[in-house]
Amino acid sequence: MIPSILPTYNRAPMSFVAGEGSWLIEEDGRRFLDLGAGIAVNVLGHANADLVAALTEQAGKLWHTSNLYGIPGQQELADRLVEATFADTAFFTNSGTEACELAVKMARKYWSEKGEDRFEIIAFTGSFHGRSAAGIAAAGSEKMTHGFGPLLPGFTHVPFGDHEALKAAMSDKIAAVIVEPIQGEGGIIPVPDQCLKGLRDACDEVGALLIFDEVQCGVGRTGKLFAHEWSGITPDIMMVAKGIGGGFPLGAVLATESAAVGMTAGTHGSTYGGNPLAMAVGNAVMKIVATDDFLAEVSRKSGALRQGLEGLVANHPDVFESVRGSGLMLGLKCKVSNTDVVSAGYEAQVLTVPAADNAVRILPPLNISDDDTSEAIRRLDQAAASL
Ligand SMILES: *Cc1c(COP(=O)(O)O)cnc(C)c1O
Repeated sequence: MIPSILPTYNRAPMSFVAGEGSWLIEEDGRRFLDLGAGIAVNVLGHANADLVAALTEQAGKLWHTSNLYGIPGQQELADRLVEATFADTAFFTNSGTEACELAVKMARKYWSEKGEDRFEIIAFTGSFHGRSAAGIAAAGSEKMTHGFGPLLPGFTHVPFGDHEALKAAMSDKIAAVIVEPIQGEGGIIPVPDQCLKGLRDACDEVGALLIFDEVQCGVGRTGKLFAHEWSGITPDIMMVAKGIGGGFPLGAVLATESAAVGMTAGTHGSTYGGNPLAMAVGNAVMKIVATDDFLAEVSRKSGALRQGLEGLVANHPDVFESVRGSGLMLGLKCKVSNTDVVSAGYEAQVLTVPAADNAVRILPPLNISDDDTSEAIRRLDQAAASL
């Protein structure tokens, strides 16, 4: 008999009823150190006092009105995002997947507005852009697309890191290129800064739009507000989600005025997108995360965590191969099965997240304490020793 929950998830054998900072707590009181943060979502940890206050205050006033009317919190968050980034304009969604849908629509509308028959979008192998029709077509992997055809047409896949293949695929028929500055689901694989620069140049040569998917690597995760800032170049369109809501479902598409030229009244919409509850939390997250002091702390914490992880790799050369990633978006490339490492972590009451390429993701809350970072290394060491 089919379970009453559609069985699409492989779940770990725990369930949590409360959270405190970097800790998750089961009904029986067992505490787990959370280095997954709901897959890079809980940037300020669990039950953060500022976010709880922002949400409960808004909950007592107004939940939802729809986008038929003005939403003051939306104006505030859009202004914050525009002020802090390359973007001139923002649209709010409820998820990263919905951000992908709009990013693709916006890029195609841009060319249609110019009267050009240009819709092909280049994406990279190993990427992840969500589970919608556009998202799985963009990622293109057999794992995500099998059985779901016919797929949304108009995507060309280039092997990640293959400069020659990219060069060959680029032409004045390409509408846009979509890329994660650091592949998350793909196994914490950064695109080197000079390659992001090269990609920007390659797009400019043919006029193609550059779309960054910063759903996982954005919102302070790398020690900059957005990961691409390290490279010095900017995209035309950017997808944001996960961290921006700190645990409340929220996403956004940011764009330059030029890239957004086709998105006029009536061309796109969302019933829930940018509702007052989401905006209250999004603004509270940005107030804390989008500050130089907070981001500098992320980089400092990253240094300590990374050093600990390097030590772990040195101590367990049969289990781990290397550490990779940036800021608090780190990955352990494993020699044993990554799911065995994650399971051993459950025994040691430390939570990590598996990814492709036999990697384990370490994505703690961005405000993890130094004590919790040390404890994390101790527990990971214990987990590795058990393998
Ligand atoms: C998680 C993720 C998405 C999809 O976001 P959802 O909120 O799950 O819809 C898209 N792109 C990247 C890079 C992601 O990590």
